[in-house]
Amino acid sequence: MVTAARRPIVAGNWKMNTAPTEARALALAMLPQLSDFAGVESVLCPPFLSLTTVREVLADAPVKLGAQDAFDVDQGAYTGAVSAAMLAGVVDYVILGHSERRHIFGEDDALIARKTQAVLRHGLAPIVCVGERLEERDANRTAEVVRGQLRGSLAGLNADQFARLVIAYEPVWAIGTGRAASAEQAQEVAALIRAELTRMFGNAAAATRVQYGGSVTPANSGAIFVQPDIDGALVGGASLKPDDFVAIVENCAGTVKT
Ligand code: PEP
Repeated sequence: MVTAARRPIVAGNWKMNTAPTEARALALAMLPQLSDFAGVESVLCPPFLSLTTVREVLADAPVKLGAQDAFDVDQGAYTGAVSAAMLAGVVDYVILGHSERRHIFGEDDALIARKTQAVLRHGLAPIVCVGERLEERDANRTAEVVRGQLRGSLAGLNADQFARLVIAYEPVWAIGTGRAASAEQAQEVAALIRAELTRMFGNAAAATRVQYGGSVTPANSGAIFVQPDIDGALVGGASLKPDDFVAIVENCAGTVKT
């Protein structure tokens, strides 16, 4: 079977860091170098408040903008929320179901599925995160947990919607801990994710981009990016360091999978 090549995608999740002035400086520090690696789709995901500032910095550069979340209802009495409708025309991507949203803010698969639908309805591309906690891995429940999150978070998607989706495999125990999954562990779960997506959506899953996320650094990213089912990374801490983020993108360049 011939499938479309999967252009790798490296996204920097700045989390709750950088007010607009800092965000502007950070984006400016990365921008010229990121633009050099056209084979990789680079995405910067600052906090909501800094999105328009970073958008101005990016201007026509070949670097995309992403939000870290989006609410599923378009507008109304939802204090503090930012809807996918509001993000349309501002960002290209929206991270959904990040483990910090799942475990600190108590989001479940049903809410993430509604958010995924809203993001797609407004023409944006979701990066849906899945991943097991340490106790689930230790209990040999990784496959069951990840499959359940995929089925729950992607419920009801049609083929057109599925084609715009990016999945991030982010083991919770590896996020922000300095303890990345080994390249083999990351590949094992990425392959499992692709197999489950194939069960859900058929052969189109061969073209789905699956990122790895969890303590990715310039030092460990090369071994991860050559894995056959991994198409880039979702990067937290290292995305706040311009040289490190650029080095990770550089390591990813040239790892297109077909
Ligand atoms: C993340 O926030 O998605 C993440 C992977 O963080 P870190 O790279 O810091 O582990």
